Amino acid sequence: MAKKNSEHCAFCGRSSHEVRLLIQGIDGWICDECAEQAHEIVQNSLHAQREQAAHKKDAPLSLNGLPRPTDIKAYLDQYVIGQDDAKRYLSVAVYNHYKRIMQPSSGDGVEIEKSNIIMVGPTGTGKTLMARTIATLLKVPFTIVDATVFTEAGYVGEDVESILSRLLQVADFDVEATQRGIVFIDEIDKIARKADNPSITRDVSGEGVQQGLLKLLEGSVVNVPPKGGRKHPDQDYVQVDTRNILFICGGAFDGIERKIAQRLNTHVVGYNSVQNVARIDRQNLMKYIQPQDLKSFGLIPEIIGRLPVLTYLDQLDRAALRQILTEPKNSLVRQQEKLFKMDDIKLTFEEDALEYIVDKAVEFKLGARGLRSIVESIMITPQFELPASGKKSFTVTREYARQQVEKANQAF
Ligand code: ADP
Repeated sequence: MAKKNSEHCAFCGRSSHEVRLLIQGIDGWICDECAEQAHEIVQNSLHAQREQAAHKKDAPLSLNGLPRPTDIKAYLDQYVIGQDDAKRYLSVAVYNHYKRIMQPSSGDGVEIEKSNIIMVGPTGTGKTLMARTIATLLKVPFTIVDATVFTEAGYVGEDVESILSRLLQVADFDVEATQRGIVFIDEIDKIARKADNPSITRDVSGEGVQQGLLKLLEGSVVNVPPKGGRKHPDQDYVQVDTRNILFICGGAFDGIERKIAQRLNTHVVGYNSVQNVARIDRQNLMKYIQPQDLKSFGLIPEIIGRLPVLTYLDQLDRAALRQILTEPKNSLVRQQEKLFKMDDIKLTFEEDALEYIVDKAVEFKLGARGLRSIVESIMITPQFELPASGKKSFTVTREYARQQVEKANQAF
């Protein structure tokens, strides 16, 4: 090959004068930009292959491939800020759950019991995010259901079995995969019975639904209408065994701190009461939560018994909200940057602007949920105008953020 030709990038054709770097191969050259692009193509392609493998119906979990609790926590750390206690509990419970599924039948009579989980914590603190992130890591079917849509059989609303219809749909109707999936039941506190004593009248939205859920949680073979909705005599059912489905329940349990405080107060009588009182962190009662508090709140003991792993989430403070904006792997700021990068625009948020967004989220009292809507309302105009503007960069200043948020607020 002539020397002149060999000093051109074999991919884009540019010469050494037009690029920063030419890398020599056996009989050709590649420039820095093409090398970078090639790297990106390889990464994307590998990612796509991994995704495909993950969704392959028959990708079974194996004990060797199972991430250890510390791996699970490290993975969660990439996406979820804070909530260390909950992450630890969840990592161990999930690890045990999948170990249980894979336990060899050794005939020693020891059967590992299921470890369904209940997470208690204010709304928007990461309960759903954590459950979803774990399901992504384990590549198992995952669905979120809201406990409030269920009613006791015979009443208007959905049967609890429809939870499994959804999981079946997510798993592409692969029963095998469905049976080792994860279900996140949100707002479990909303089906609490109204008072801490069994009611004599029917409690359509409360205890009846808890009874219905029980059989799913404890593990049984359930006839599931594959398309969901109400059960119908002429319908074909798919049988799903819920023994190995992991149920993670979440709820805000508003006011449960009072129950915890009551319990702690009644327990301080005794010879070691003085030490106990001294150690109680009154600002953060949630960390003392015990199953009996859930009972005082109105969950029936049978349900509590089927949710043996109980953990709590902290209210997110200002510092956590600030971290959530930029630190998680798919943080709101990173997502925005990516959107703009696809139009070749470099997006920058000034620190002051980020502080302003956090201030607003605190003011709106929406926790991390508020961050997203604030960022969206700031970015709607640039998202609309910039792609066609020819601009190559855009910086969000505090002043710009303030104007956009105020403009959006006026619209309401
Ligand atoms: P909930 O506790 O009500 O289930 P979510 O997990 O749905 O709350 O949180 C709502 C959104 O807020 C999430 O999608 C995520 O973007 C953000 N978020 C909440 N908590 C955290 C956290 N601890 N770390 C990172 N992001 C969070």
